[in-house]
Amino acid sequence: NLSDTPTHTIPTSAELRPGDAAWLAAHWMPFTGNRQFKADPRLIVAADGAYLIDADGRRVFDGLSGLWCTGLGHGRREIVEAVSRQVATLDYAPAFQFGHPLSFELANRIVEHLPAGLNRVMFTASGSEAADTALKIARAYWRVRGQASKTRLIGRAKGYHGVNFGGVSVGGIVGNRKLFGQGVEADHLPHTQPPAGAFFRGQPPADGAGLYAGAALADELLRLIELHDASTIAAVIVEPMSGSAGVVVPPQGYLQRLRDICTQHDILLIFDEVITGFGRCGAWTGSEAFGVVPDMLTFAKQVTNGVQPLGGVAVRQGIYDAFIDAGGPTYALEFPHGYTYSAHPVACAAGLASMALLQRDNAPERVRALAPVFEAKVHSLRGASPHLLDIRNYGLAAGLTLAPAPGEPLKRPFEVAMRMWAKGFYVRYGGDTVQLAPPFISTEAEIDRLVDALGETLRALD
Ligand code: PMP
Repeated sequence: NLSDTPTHTIPTSAELRPGDAAWLAAHWMPFTGNRQFKADPRLIVAADGAYLIDADGRRVFDGLSGLWCTGLGHGRREIVEAVSRQVATLDYAPAFQFGHPLSFELANRIVEHLPAGLNRVMFTASGSEAADTALKIARAYWRVRGQASKTRLIGRAKGYHGVNFGGVSVGGIVGNRKLFGQGVEADHLPHTQPPAGAFFRGQPPADGAGLYAGAALADELLRLIELHDASTIAAVIVEPMSGSAGVVVPPQGYLQRLRDICTQHDILLIFDEVITGFGRCGAWTGSEAFGVVPDMLTFAKQVTNGVQPLGGVAVRQGIYDAFIDAGGPTYALEFPHGYTYSAHPVACAAGLASMALLQRDNAPERVRALAPVFEAKVHSLRGASPHLLDIRNYGLAAGLTLAPAPGEPLKRPFEVAMRMWAKGFYVRYGGDTVQLAPPFISTEAEIDRLVDALGETLRALD
């Protein structure tokens, strides 16, 4: 009912301008040095295709696709229209015990692009929620199967699975954990990041460098099984390719060996595909790119092209059936988990439009075509700075490791990102890395300009 339009004016971001310090103070920004930001605010007021537009009207190339989520570019008409139509038709529906058709349609569309067998989807509103949902499903699965002792969760050093308690507990990014005290009991595999100076192109070889060998790294899981016994272990969760740690690509043989060990020991294997899902690796999933099928797969980000918050967990049918067939009165067989915004109708509308565009434009193939160009270009940065210790890449993602600066270990990646922003390019810094993940719609010329600007920035580092 449009006559209910409020009489007060709600500003758009383009109408607001950086205000005074007090105005900026009220919003405590996540994963941001608030004092630094508020002294030098970087406000984005609009976006168009592969560009962010800042408060001064500058067009800044979106070199990380937002936060790895806007591969199709900003302002895609089909998504804008789907969201506008949906919000005007059904803006919200109760997520429990009642439903709306879009969630079922979206689950079907998603399943079409997942590895065979992963055909049941539970939705969440974010990647962090997807990780915690998957971990809870794993524990509950063994319990309904009569193996209640299988509760232990295993993640990996440098792993990122969002910021909720389950996800940070299995996660292995030290800075995200240490402030928060005790989490969920978890153990960790060693990370798979190659030693400094490796400069592998794409997927590292099976026996890359000394200890760094795919199968041997995965065999560390056997050590944890020996330590804890498989009868206490519910699941192993890894990103097939990790993004937040600075793009860590699995060595050949690694994921397959993890798969084999999990199968042998009745441990569920979860792939966190929040970054790798829906195109980034040049395939619909990391699972497809690396040829290994997990028991559960989490996704978020690109599923809606970042336009609405949506995530989820896809599981093998056997996992779903274990709950559906658990016995007792049908109406009482609820899986006691879910969110007010699970499968939000507006998010599902964005998801359907994004999935349709990914398919119509054949996004995975577009990424496969650009990946060799991107790879050659980013590896041409080798030698640009004595501080550049390694470059890793796969699909349309790359991570560069920079040496710590004396007394200020993480200063260089931060400086690179700030100088890139000043030059008109948005890239992300995280830990000791700088990360690139340009949109799938990037042209070769745009990739050239992005990496050239980064080269210039690296050469100017002292
Ligand atoms: N898992 C992975 C692999 C991620 O990269 C991220 C976000 N970068 C998350 C989970 C968390 O997703 P969200 O920020 O939507 O909670």
